[in-house]
Amino acid sequence: MKKLILAGAGHAHLFSILHIGQLIRAGYSVTVIGPGDYHYYSGMGPGLLAGLYQPGETRFAVRKMTEARGGKFVCGSIELIQPDLNRVQLSGGQSLDYDVLSCNLGSNVVPLAPAEDPTLPVKPIENLYTAGREIARRLQKESLRVLVIGGGAAGVEIAGNLCHLGELTKGSLDVTLLSQSDILTRYVPKMRRLVLASFTRRGIHVYEQVSISRFSGQEVMLDNGNTLPFDYAINATGIRPSRVFRSSGLPVSNDGGLLVNQYLQCINYPRIFGAGDCISFLPQPLERVGVYAVRQGPVLYQNLLVALPCGSLRAFRPQARYLSILNLGDGSGLLAWRSFVFSGRLAFLVKNYIDKKFMNRFQVSGEINFDFGGHNT
Ligand SMILES: Cc1cc2nc3c(=O)[nH]c(=O)nc-3n(C[C@H](O)[C@H](O)[C@H](O)COP(=O)(O)OP(=O)(O)OC[C@H]3O[C@@H](n4cnc5c(N)ncnc54)[C@H](O)[C@@H]3O)c2cc1C
Repeated sequence: MKKLILAGAGHAHLFSILHIGQLIRAGYSVTVIGPGDYHYYSGMGPGLLAGLYQPGETRFAVRKMTEARGGKFVCGSIELIQPDLNRVQLSGGQSLDYDVLSCNLGSNVVPLAPAEDPTLPVKPIENLYTAGREIARRLQKESLRVLVIGGGAAGVEIAGNLCHLGELTKGSLDVTLLSQSDILTRYVPKMRRLVLASFTRRGIHVYEQVSISRFSGQEVMLDNGNTLPFDYAINATGIRPSRVFRSSGLPVSNDGGLLVNQYLQCINYPRIFGAGDCISFLPQPLERVGVYAVRQGPVLYQNLLVALPCGSLRAFRPQARYLSILNLGDGSGLLAWRSFVFSGRLAFLVKNYIDKKFMNRFQVSGEINFDFGGHNT
């Protein structure tokens, strides 16, 4: 049997993991490598922080999914790919050979301080659950000032959901959102205006066009000379692809994403494929959002099926536009489709419906029945 390694068990690999049986019937032995038994869905991460969702509702039991379909799950982290030997090395020293390697290694949040970064990164998504529970616990006995750093969609959703958490716990919580540019610059300007209006009403402070110079204990120094004290800080400033490809000498873009062609195939090594945040798609730049990772999943699977007999590969054709809905944390959402924008309860209900439908598709291993203690990432 030819050896297929699925490196990383994130959004882009869910479709292949669900179809491991077919991959085995096509002549592969399938090994999935990931750092934990569960993978958490980012779209519901801010709601997980606020306590709107329980962990079991927001995760996929990737080990169970793999094993139930005849695959092998190796709990570990890939350190290096040796493309000339067709081998991957794991952090514990173990190495595994492959005939075909598919990479879904995701991205990491860029740290804010070189040495001791006092902020909690928004990824992995389970950090948001941990943060929410710790903040709720501390609010029982003290007032808290929480900084959310980063004015993109993730930062906005987290600030809004933190505010809701403060209301739920009836604690004294002061939420501040810091952004190096205006908030939501990637979206139509109306989105920014609606969020600023909503946050002003809810008492969430927003500082735009400010950069952090440095952290000093529980204070952050801004480049405009101001200082902000905080008790808890969350880093949502941006992500970069896994470092594994650059360390392995594979072809990468400036930010370290694995360079792939229209077939999601590494440009120099045809046995290596990739999808999601960890790649740089050569035919055109793509935003690193879950929408693309999920849409690439079935194309990647089809190409893995035919990779070894060298069958004809399917091109990934990115959709030009996608629907965005932000969860603002107060029961309302902010929906954007092209230049059309609206906010309110209905927008949140649409998001909740889409998110739950996505979860139902891949929650095939009794996820809801486990408590958070069961996760081991
Ligand atoms: C708070 C937040 C909210 C978001 N909301 C949305 C949204 O609503 N809609 C949207 O489109 N996008 C959203 N995004 C972006 C979205 O999360 C990413 O684009 C998406 O997760 C990318 O999927 P992926 O499959 O590439 O990576 P991931 O889903 O992150 O999967 C990567 C997997 O690889 C594993 N891994 C990493 N390194 C290694 C290693 N060395 N060895 C083995 N395994 C490894 C990780 O543990 C993980 O399981 C959000 C992001 C954040 C932070």
